[in-house]
Amino acid sequence: MAISELLGSVLATGVLGLPLGVTQANLPGTEIKVSSPPRKGWVIYTVKPGDTLSQIARRYRVDAKAIMYSSGLEGVALRPGQELRIPLAEESGAEIRLPPGVRTYVVRRGDTVESVARRFDLTVLGLVSANPGLPSLDRLEVGSTLYIPTGEPGLLVRLKPGENIQDLANRFGLSLSAVAKANALNLPTDVQVGDLVLLPGVQAKATYERLLQIREAERKAREEEQRRLAEERRKREEARQKQLEEQRRLQQARLRQQQQVQTQPRLRRANAVVAAAGYRWPMSSFTITTYFGRRGVFQRFHTGIDLAAPTGTPIYAARAGQVDTAGWSRFGYGLHVILDHGGAQETLYGHMSRIAVRPGQWVARGELIGYVGSTGWSTGPHLHFEVRVGGAARNPMAYLP
Ligand SMILES: [Zn+2]
Repeated sequence: MAISELLGSVLATGVLGLPLGVTQANLPGTEIKVSSPPRKGWVIYTVKPGDTLSQIARRYRVDAKAIMYSSGLEGVALRPGQELRIPLAEESGAEIRLPPGVRTYVVRRGDTVESVARRFDLTVLGLVSANPGLPSLDRLEVGSTLYIPTGEPGLLVRLKPGENIQDLANRFGLSLSAVAKANALNLPTDVQVGDLVLLPGVQAKATYERLLQIREAERKAREEEQRRLAEERRKREEARQKQLEEQRRLQQARLRQQQQVQTQPRLRRANAVVAAAGYRWPMSSFTITTYFGRRGVFQRFHTGIDLAAPTGTPIYAARAGQVDTAGWSRFGYGLHVILDHGGAQETLYGHMSRIAVRPGQWVARGELIGYVGSTGWSTGPHLHFEVRVGGAARNPMAYLP
């Protein structure tokens, strides 16, 4: 039987039992819509008026019970428009018919569309054409089946209900004989709904383009995600650095504070305790702000100690003696008192706000001689206290208790 005769009989008698679909005279290379990948799975079938379950089961070469089970039917009654889930032949145990020039390949870990194409000496477009249902160029599901044209490459499609070889040939501008030859069709029953049909020379260009677009979109999305993650990382790191910086700053501040506390002059409370040298502190409550000696490179040698206290704080004689001087100083001491303790020992009390003694007056140790002030070269209320021995300033700390 000649091929054309065969197909003619298919069309005339409807041996396949399929209603004739609308012929679409599309040109080769037009986009092919494939509802499901050409591998084991499901076909969703919409019930048409007049359909019976056994008819549909026969048409798909599956057990009617399998359709009932997978579609959740409780009986055999169907209503038009109802959707049936039909397990494909492969799953229901029957062998799916592969065109002679097509083999299968089960995807292994690490396979990519490119590596599989290379392995079988195909172009990516060639591989896509044989697998037009491929959802992505970048994600091959391990264990899934790919169809590999080993002879003439072409588009591999599954024959859908309501479709026949003639329809397919017409749609892709192929001759019936070319399609029949490429699929080694000898008998009309060789091709059934759900079978794969190779359309020689047809390339799924539009599908390929669409997959490329998906790939590009996915690449962009990945890049965007990576950028977002990098930005997030950067922000986190920045926040961490800020926190570290803040911790360092706080630690330094604490350290400074501690040092300040350590170096800050402590308020002293002195009573009338007398040192071995015969001196007592000239005030009972004060803070030593400057000690005797060199204060700094550009500052004068400090000839006494500075005892800070509020203005008006009483100042007492550090030791018994005679008032040598009581009045305004020409040397910056402001209102000051100098006591002569005999034995070439003198004490000086500077920057007073008020003087309570007169020159020549004898005073006992601890007797009131004046009040704290800020007269003369002074920047705040304090007593400048000096001990002089033989006319030379000595460190008062050596004479005080
Ligand atoms: Zn001073």
